[in-house]
Amino acid sequence: MAFRIYCGALATDGSRYEQRALVVDKGRIVAWEPYDPHRLARIAPPDVDAREYIALPGMIDLHIHGGFGRDMMEGTPEAIQAVAQRLVQHGVTAFLATPLTAPWDAIRNCIRAAREVREHGSEGARVLGCHLEGPFINPKRAGAQPPEYIRPPSVRELETELGDLMSELRIVTLAPELEGGLELTQYLTGQGIIVSIGHSDATYEQTLQAIEHGARHATHTFNAMRPFQHRDPSLAGAVMLRDELTAEIIWDNVHTHPATAHLLVKAKGIERVLCVSDGTTGVGMPDGYTFELWGHRAVVQNSAARMVETGGLAGSTIAMDACLMHCADTLGLEAASLLCAANPARALGYEGELGTLRPGACADFILWNPRTRQIEYTFIDGVLEQLESKTAGEPVSATNLNPYP
Ligand SMILES: [Zn+2]
Repeated sequence: MAFRIYCGALATDGSRYEQRALVVDKGRIVAWEPYDPHRLARIAPPDVDAREYIALPGMIDLHIHGGFGRDMMEGTPEAIQAVAQRLVQHGVTAFLATPLTAPWDAIRNCIRAAREVREHGSEGARVLGCHLEGPFINPKRAGAQPPEYIRPPSVRELETELGDLMSELRIVTLAPELEGGLELTQYLTGQGIIVSIGHSDATYEQTLQAIEHGARHATHTFNAMRPFQHRDPSLAGAVMLRDELTAEIIWDNVHTHPATAHLLVKAKGIERVLCVSDGTTGVGMPDGYTFELWGHRAVVQNSAARMVETGGLAGSTIAMDACLMHCADTLGLEAASLLCAANPARALGYEGELGTLRPGACADFILWNPRTRQIEYTFIDGVLEQLESKTAGEPVSATNLNPYP
């Protein structure tokens, strides 16, 4: 049965529309209806009163390893489901499970678990497939990836080790400047898998070669990549300049200064940059919490995860809701939503289907409270996900939000 969600405003595709009701039917947004707040009669179930909220499309995280004390590299469907269920509290409605550089059997277990959750459902955010980060990366730019498991790029090795699990890969992060890197780039592109340049020491010229061989994406821009210098623009310069590449950014104000993230958006345009969390097991965990990245310990300290041995950054401790707010501080909410929803959806080929509130899209959306600057409700397929209150004890303002419309 169709129902209406009366929203204070909709923010989607870079614009804001005041006083609109979203009409939802069979898990899809089917229409928008303007309403006059002074003439509105009582809103009764199954319709939903969300007049104090701004509806935004659900966020899509293309790069996340875990969170809330769980690691997707545990390699069980249960671990991935546990993360997926907590992610809805942070406004994430879809994500790519992201195995990191590790022994092949651990990578296989993670991908196999992700496939099972994708096929059978997560009871939380959707799993859209996998983003394989490594092992074909440059040891010079390993960052927090365990160096002992880094491998030279090899089409044959990837095919042999993954077999039919290849079909779960949506993005592969690799270093194209290594021997065999261009061949692997071309092969993956031919398979319909997005090649993302990352953990790479590629020069500007080497990056252009990779683009010619099909590379279309850049992994956490500026982090673990050869930096921009005016006589050596390098990979970072090519990411800013070349329209062929979409660019990930970890907008946590720790991995990059907000001005640097802003510069990236100015250089590439608002539609070619997307926020990722690069979230680790430490997401949502308190200071002092320690976890392991394949034999290397990391600790959560001041909103960052750092390697105990080196002090280097070890992925983030935030989810996409924090990225959205940091980004909104610089660009405004409507633009921030592009970076967190529409742009990642388009990068993966879901334009019009996910990451937007336009009629025809999946009814995956969030209700954001402008007073508390919090995401308070998350809907997937038009169904309200059960959220633990993030502000315990505070009454919910939309009194007749109906959990089972
Ligand atoms: Zn990562």
